Amino acid sequence: MMRVSSYRDTLEQLARSESVPQSHLAALIAMPTREVLEYAAGLAREVAEQHFGHKVYLRGLLEVSNVCAAGCYYCGLRAENRALGRYTLTTEEILESCEEGYGLGLRSFVLQGGQRADYREPIAKVAREFKSRLSDAALTLSLGEQSGECYEEWRKAGADRYLLRHESANEWHYGRLHPESMSYQNRLGCLKRLSELGYQCGAGFMVGTPEQTALHLAEELEFLAQLRPQMVGIGPFIPHSSTPFGQMPQGSVEQTLLMISLVRLVLPKALIPSTTALATASGNGTQQGVLAGANVVMPNVTPKRYRAGYEIYNGKKSFGTEAVEGLEHLAELLGRVGYEASLERGDHPDFVVK
Ligand code: SAH
Repeated sequence: MMRVSSYRDTLEQLARSESVPQSHLAALIAMPTREVLEYAAGLAREVAEQHFGHKVYLRGLLEVSNVCAAGCYYCGLRAENRALGRYTLTTEEILESCEEGYGLGLRSFVLQGGQRADYREPIAKVAREFKSRLSDAALTLSLGEQSGECYEEWRKAGADRYLLRHESANEWHYGRLHPESMSYQNRLGCLKRLSELGYQCGAGFMVGTPEQTALHLAEELEFLAQLRPQMVGIGPFIPHSSTPFGQMPQGSVEQTLLMISLVRLVLPKALIPSTTALATASGNGTQQGVLAGANVVMPNVTPKRYRAGYEIYNGKKSFGTEAVEGLEHLAELLGRVGYEASLERGDHPDFVVK
């Protein structure tokens, strides 16, 4: 009897924001049994429903460029991957893609791309133009680590939100995933700066990256409880053959789902996407993520001819319900599991938008 109730106690303690020993959480995370997954997901759905009802917010995801100066060991866009043909959308292509999505009803867009040193002016221009043409739509950027001045310029130009996953809450483990030129401290500094500039901030991490332990994943929860980002992106690690981690195993779908549920319990009002990586790793990953407590889906609005070029991991899904042309089907799939695809901006509840 003790054993049966103990996982429930642990999860309920977490939901009540009581401190839970990391070893207890790590034990659940290490072996996500069906009972644990279902109980955690049930609690997570209850919590999400209190703040968001059954809404799942849609964001148009635009992959603006796969040119990248960084060398993250897990990512297919890393500069050292010479096999990849590189592309960069023009200002007009970016704006047209957003306008197309806007025409379909989307009111929230994410411009994501490699980390480039020459993007400050072009993106500032895009942001200003975006805001003048689509003034009631939210603009999110996800363009890696940049200088404080650059983040400030983009914010002034109109960007509302910024996604920069911290990738690992554990400094040692962060170091195992990135070259020496990148640092955990700089990453956290970027997140702090973004938050000070008034961006709604997204942090996040992959599940199942090399050398990650269940204890590291338990640390994620404590880290996020302190950082309190407005958004949290969580997806399984999926190998890319032209990276140093090309031969490493894929992260577990079950563990990813459990982490989504646990993060929902820790940050009840967070915007948590059911990610493309989850949908790539599992046929019905999008719905599974939502049923685990996620409340955002990001259909791809990148012009079709560029999509294959944004291969951060092998086999990445970018068509069908993962894309803007599958919007109706996506809404139908969400409807079947009891959720409503929402076209609202979907700001964090604590952010008042004028
Ligand atoms: N250059 C931007 C965007 C990176 S892509 C930035 O640095 O923020 C967005 C996210 O995809 C990354 O933060 C990472 O967590 C995830 N990602 C990258 N490679 C991956 C892989 N091989 N498997 C799963 N997710 C991956």
